[in-house]
Amino acid sequence: MEFLSPKNLNEALKFKSEHPDFTVLAGGTDACTLINSGILKSKGLINIYGIKEIAEIKENGDFLEIGALATLTQIIENRLVSKFLPVLAMACKTIGARQIQNRGTIGGNVMNASPAGDALPVFLAYETKMELLSAKGSRLVLFEKFYAGYRKTAAEADELAAKFIIKKCDDKERFAFMKVGTRRAQSISKVCACFRQSSSYKIAYGSVAPTPIRCYVTEKFLNGCKTDAFAADEAVRLVRQEVSPMDDIRSTANYRRHVAGVLLKRFLESV
Ligand SMILES: Cc1cc2nc3c(=O)[nH]c(=O)nc-3n(C[C@H](O)[C@H](O)[C@H](O)COP(=O)(O)OP(=O)(O)OC[C@H]3O[C@@H](n4cnc5c(N)ncnc54)[C@H](O)[C@@H]3O)c2cc1C
Repeated sequence: MEFLSPKNLNEALKFKSEHPDFTVLAGGTDACTLINSGILKSKGLINIYGIKEIAEIKENGDFLEIGALATLTQIIENRLVSKFLPVLAMACKTIGARQIQNRGTIGGNVMNASPAGDALPVFLAYETKMELLSAKGSRLVLFEKFYAGYRKTAAEADELAAKFIIKKCDDKERFAFMKVGTRRAQSISKVCACFRQSSSYKIAYGSVAPTPIRCYVTEKFLNGCKTDAFAADEAVRLVRQEVSPMDDIRSTANYRRHVAGVLLKRFLESV
């Protein structure tokens, strides 16, 4: 297997355009597992880990920009994330354990395209834009449009994920990240969710459909009524209709549907 180690972003993009079939290696916590178990057979690897130009976390006016190569630990410990998007740090804290968080990147979580990726409902609920780069230039994609189906993304073979652009959350906003797995550490979500309530409700889930999803019907219902106990019960009923989970080794569709409602109910009770 050929192993390419670009020295900077330009070289990484050049390698990717010359070898679109090579696998990009960021932290390698997903990719190396698949290579070692023989599931991922690749002619070569392009190791982009540590390329500084796409690892930064910074403010840009009303927005926070998070480089795709920022590690989960960097996000958890970052001052700007704690201030302007604490719910992303909450989600990253539940990913794997310390070793995975130290090595794994946020871009890897997104590009891996697992419907159980824990950061994904946060990006969905926060209407994130994602920058993709190739040797030909840059383009912005709405996170909502990024997943075309189970493990299918809108990224072209010669593109790298570069950064995530998210509007800073305001002081009055209420939010939550919730995850249910077999235990607290090192477990992949049976259901995960990000909920927001500011001027309107935003409801996003992972692991309850082939891609992470926003629940627009339930949001519309909640945005159009006074949220009392009756409305909360109706929202739970609607959200259980909106998700489309499946049975797999981690859980059953029925349990996932039930839990999706329970998590929303907890959030509504808390606000
Ligand atoms: C023990 C264990 C526990 C885990 N627990 C969790 C968990 O609880 N929750 C969870 O969500 N995930 C979990 N994971 C999955 C994984 O660790 C995370 O998804 C992590 O964020 C992946 O980041 P990475 O940098 O290691 O990605 P990599 O393994 O380097 O890459 C993953 C995929 O994304 C592509 N890629 C990476 N970066 C880019 C880029 N910038 N541009 C283009 N393509 C790119 C790679 O080619 C590869 O296909 C776990 C994994 C392990 C091994």
